[in-house]
Amino acid sequence: MLLITSITTIFITMILVTNVYYNLFCKKAMEEIHLYAVLMQDVEQKEASNEFISSLQDAGLRLTMIDHEGKVLFDSEMDVDKMESHQQRPEVMDAISVGEGEAVRYSDTLSSVMFYYAVRMNNGNILRFSRKFIDFYTFLGEALPGILVVLVCVFLVSMILSHIFASRLIQPIKKIADNLEQGGDFSEYEELRPFIKVIEEQHHDIMKNAMVRQEFTANVSHELKTPLTSISGYAELIETGIASEEDVTRFAHGIHSSSKRLLTLINDVIRLSELDSVNEDVVFEKLNLYELAETCVEMLTLNAEKHGVKIFIRGDVCYLKGNKQMIEELLYNLCDNAIRYNNEDGIVEVKVFTEGKRVVLEVEDTGIGIPKEHQERIFERFYRVDKSRSKSTGGTGLGLAIVKHILVRHNAEMELISEVGKGTKIRVIF
Ligand code: ADP
Repeated sequence: MLLITSITTIFITMILVTNVYYNLFCKKAMEEIHLYAVLMQDVEQKEASNEFISSLQDAGLRLTMIDHEGKVLFDSEMDVDKMESHQQRPEVMDAISVGEGEAVRYSDTLSSVMFYYAVRMNNGNILRFSRKFIDFYTFLGEALPGILVVLVCVFLVSMILSHIFASRLIQPIKKIADNLEQGGDFSEYEELRPFIKVIEEQHHDIMKNAMVRQEFTANVSHELKTPLTSISGYAELIETGIASEEDVTRFAHGIHSSSKRLLTLINDVIRLSELDSVNEDVVFEKLNLYELAETCVEMLTLNAEKHGVKIFIRGDVCYLKGNKQMIEELLYNLCDNAIRYNNEDGIVEVKVFTEGKRVVLEVEDTGIGIPKEHQERIFERFYRVDKSRSKSTGGTGLGLAIVKHILVRHNAEMELISEVGKGTKIRVIF
């Protein structure tokens, strides 16, 4: 595109320049015959020598001598006898009346367009010089080979120069791209610095994301391997037939719980990847948070009793805009954790209330608490403070990662207040 534009521009410029030259050329041609005419004004020769005529022809000039009545006395190109009266020729008429005259017109005698210039000589005769008029297209046609040569040269030179400039321009950028990982030297383009900074940050994010993903995949595989290994082991023992009937029941129980664990794990992984992908068709509706929390508490009461924990709910009816399934999952994960990381005779208290214009959910337990140094990290995937306690209570290490995703989707904030041995309080502010 750029190429076509530049070629067209150069071409048009050349034509315009040629036009200027053409006008100049016409002016000069006219001036030249003026000069010849003025020079010859005083000459009184009746007959011209052959030598003189041929030198005129060499110069592309035609000379005509006409008397004051228009009769042609001499012509360097034609036989005088065959020529009609030239009294009516405009340049001759002007020359007879004013002393000089000029014209550009078609000549019947020579059948081509001519420049004419006529002067009255001292003896009263009219001296007329003429020369072939070249129209612009013929002129252009003659100039065209030259124009094309210049065009090609300009084109080649500009190609070479642009190539050199482009590579000079690109070189530092290439260097930056190569050095992006090491946070390269960007001294050459001050203006690009903010732009490069953004790219660098994005690059960093991409690398980090890739690492997190890879780590996650490795973790998932590892987590899946453990229950599968035990399932396989139990099945093998049963297969050999050496296990007693009592053992078989025990092994079957082992297989059952391991496969249940596998299922929860897979469900959590699927849920996380669902939350990861930004799908548009998540429905947000008006939800009664108190009602949802109450249902969750009721559902978990039996489970809590098994752990010797009491769970109850307090607060007011509060509404918020959210996705029902996600809010249910959020409630379940927080309450389930509060039960599982609790002590015998512990308490879980769920509170729903409004604070100013915002809806607040609090889940507070009297459990084991979370040490300060772990508090930041428990929302990471597969991060657990006590791995064996998590596993023995059916945890996957993904619950709070799911919670975090849900909070982000609902633009909610969260606070964690926890003290080892005293308990944990998680506050969610919608
Ligand atoms: P898990 O399935 O292991 O419970 P979560 O993502 O739900 O995974 O929680 C991550 C870790 O955070 C848990 O392993 C546990 O160590 C800690 N944790 C979560 N909730 C509580 C709580 N209420 N009290 C004490 N520790 C908790």
